[in-house]
Amino acid sequence: MFLVGLTGGISSGKSTVSSMLQELGCPIIDADVVARKVVEPRSRAYSRIVARFGPDILLENGEIDRKKLGQLIFVDEEKRRLLNSITHPEIQREMLKEILFYFVRGYRYVVLDVPLLFETRRLTQFLNHTVLVYCDPATQLSRLMQRDSLTQEQAEQRLSAQMPLNEKRGLANHVVENSGSREETHRQVLRLHAKLEDSMDFLPVRVVAVVATAGLGGILMYATKILLS
Ligand code: ADP
Repeated sequence: MFLVGLTGGISSGKSTVSSMLQELGCPIIDADVVARKVVEPRSRAYSRIVARFGPDILLENGEIDRKKLGQLIFVDEEKRRLLNSITHPEIQREMLKEILFYFVRGYRYVVLDVPLLFETRRLTQFLNHTVLVYCDPATQLSRLMQRDSLTQEQAEQRLSAQMPLNEKRGLANHVVENSGSREETHRQVLRLHAKLEDSMDFLPVRVVAVVATAGLGGILMYATKILLS
């Protein structure tokens, strides 16, 4: 099995391309969905977050107020580290579990949809392919303003907080150029999909390397659990 990382910049079209790949039958693991899942009420991370940050960070329905938590860690480096130390191992574990789920079902590759792939670089060593969804800065700005109903100033502020797409471009193996129409993008996604389908990279079992290098013991326990469940 091999792993493909899909990334972009805010409003460059990553979700659009991810949906196109999904429609073509690609298994996708969305890092944002996983990050939300691991802090759901009754999860291990949830209990630890409430214990360390207090009940003030909860919404009335008992869920974690992610916006409030986000504001809290934005201004406090130590709290940010604490939160990451709680959530990152859980996110890794959940992603690994989902990769194994596809692995035992015979999929040859999985696409990991990760917004900050090149910023954190934690995952890149385990990926056989990295795909950047690119669009030119002017298009990115106008799509962002339109999608999130932002003023130009607000949108520029959000864009300036990110690694520029041109910088990410040099780090990716594949670039989907999404400055044009959806049809043009779709044609490129079809070509990318064909490349992934034809790839023989699934022969070495990369997932073993992921587990061994990440030091995530318990692979056998996990695999057994998944196989028996
Ligand atoms: P991301 O997931 O990278 O933040 P999205 O896929 O949500 O970006 O795309 C940002 C916005 O641009 C959305 O409103 C989307 O519908 C629109 N969009 C994406 N690709 C195109 C395209 N090729 N042509 C026109 N609009 C697009």
